[in-house]
Amino acid sequence: MRKYVIMGVQGSGKGTQAGRLATDLDLVNVSVGDTLRWHVQHHTKIGAQVRRTMAAGALVDDDLVESLARERLAMHHWNYGFILDGFPRNVRQARFFLESYDIDGVINLELPDEVVHERVLARRLCSGCGLDWNLLAHRPKVPDVCDICGSPLLVREDDTPDALAARLRDYHAKTAPVLELFERKEFVATFDATQPVEVIQAEIRDRFALPPPAS
Ligand SMILES: [Zn+2]
Repeated sequence: MRKYVIMGVQGSGKGTQAGRLATDLDLVNVSVGDTLRWHVQHHTKIGAQVRRTMAAGALVDDDLVESLARERLAMHHWNYGFILDGFPRNVRQARFFLESYDIDGVINLELPDEVVHERVLARRLCSGCGLDWNLLAHRPKVPDVCDICGSPLLVREDDTPDALAARLRDYHAKTAPVLELFERKEFVATFDATQPVEVIQAEIRDRFALPPPAS
């Protein structure tokens, strides 16, 4: 069974790449971000905690992520392939993960911090219908107004330059040692995430000897 970990900073297109691999190759996309969003949407106690953390521009606590990821992985039927997104986030979690699970490799999407800033700070959220916009990629016809419902577009609470810079520092400090640890034990393939989505997807399939995307 194919089992992968996908790593990359926010804005690297990690979710998009994982989603395409999962759909085409019949893998389960195990996403910590989706699990956290589920809790927020369903107003669980964990959801309230996550909402507070994100409003403060911080990253969700590692211990919380770890317990959610452990629970989710424990539920997974091991005869089925998966792509894990959002875990492990630090060295301790990576050690636990490597002791407990066998994977085929790590997909690492690399994006320079300047590009992360450009991409993330261009994100907007519609105050009416909740649709995501991006002033770089998915631009509304009239600036700052939603094409669909006409409501004003807002910057997400946690998308300020300072909050983003803090998240990036935290990400790099924790992720660099995780990658080092993986590189000693697993196959890590690094991709240039400034490239178009289709190019990155094709490169991933090529490096892991997976069937090419249907065109
Ligand atoms: Zn709207």
